[in-house]
Amino acid sequence: MKIQTVTGPVDPQAIHKTMIHEHLVFDLSEVRQEKDRDSKLEDSPQLDHEIQLLIDSGCNTIVEVSNIGMGRDAEALSEIAHKHDLNIVASTGFYKESVYPSFVFEKSKEELAEIMIREVLEGMDETTIRAGLIAEIGSSYEEITKTEEKVFQASILAHKTTGAPISTHCEIGTMGRDQLDIFEKHHVDMNRVSFGHQDLNEAVEEQLLLLKSGAYIQFDTIGKNSYRKDTDKVDNLLVLIERGYEDQLMLSCDITRKSHLKGYGGYGYNHLFENFIPALIEKGITNEILDKMLVHNPRKFLAFL
Ligand SMILES: [Zn+2]
Repeated sequence: MKIQTVTGPVDPQAIHKTMIHEHLVFDLSEVRQEKDRDSKLEDSPQLDHEIQLLIDSGCNTIVEVSNIGMGRDAEALSEIAHKHDLNIVASTGFYKESVYPSFVFEKSKEELAEIMIREVLEGMDETTIRAGLIAEIGSSYEEITKTEEKVFQASILAHKTTGAPISTHCEIGTMGRDQLDIFEKHHVDMNRVSFGHQDLNEAVEEQLLLLKSGAYIQFDTIGKNSYRKDTDKVDNLLVLIERGYEDQLMLSCDITRKSHLKGYGGYGYNHLFENFIPALIEKGITNEILDKMLVHNPRKFLAFL
């Protein structure tokens, strides 16, 4: 089994520490109503600096979950990967109703699945650079709209055809249970699915329900203290580890704004390794468990070829 990166398939052993839910090249600045210029990320000296810090922390793989309609740029991702000798796994799919391109509302689930299948098997953005997962497939805050449900069904079709794993977006941690219902209704093998933004879900019982299904869950907004404090995320993670779910947890920061970057006064991508991991170590989390969350779980989840 191989992992499909933007520079080609790689053996899972080539993957070291991994950030499971990030954005490197991304543009929601036009889509957002406020024409928010902060919501744009691109190849830049600031990004080069951030990536060098990650590499110095032992991270060599980034799962890039920007998809169609989010300013994804396969060519730019490939250039960044080559420049830094970094593994980047790119995504196909559609994000959430408020940012869908208009055709998503018009096309059938089969037609949407066909687009995703083509991007996994042939290439994205008029290149031969292929997507390595179906992500981030989202629902709205406390709601899965009709069109979002159609996109979930299309993602399931694309997953069943290609074997590519699915990673989701739970808006502020909500709707995981309802997303699970859709996957189970369509008999998806749940260890091929990872639920996003579960560190923002304060309902531990729901997190446990998702984990019991066999799925992965992501603590992937580390550093976004305005939603929920990192110290609470540490305590929450400890509960799940104590319950024995260390084989189904993965970590990331979900950088989505220029102002998150160190060069703009933010905490940067490396916050995960610089601050959050040391906080876990201080609480007694062993290297073995850290390696599972950062290395072994991503290897298992991402391999499908
Ligand atoms: Zn998201």
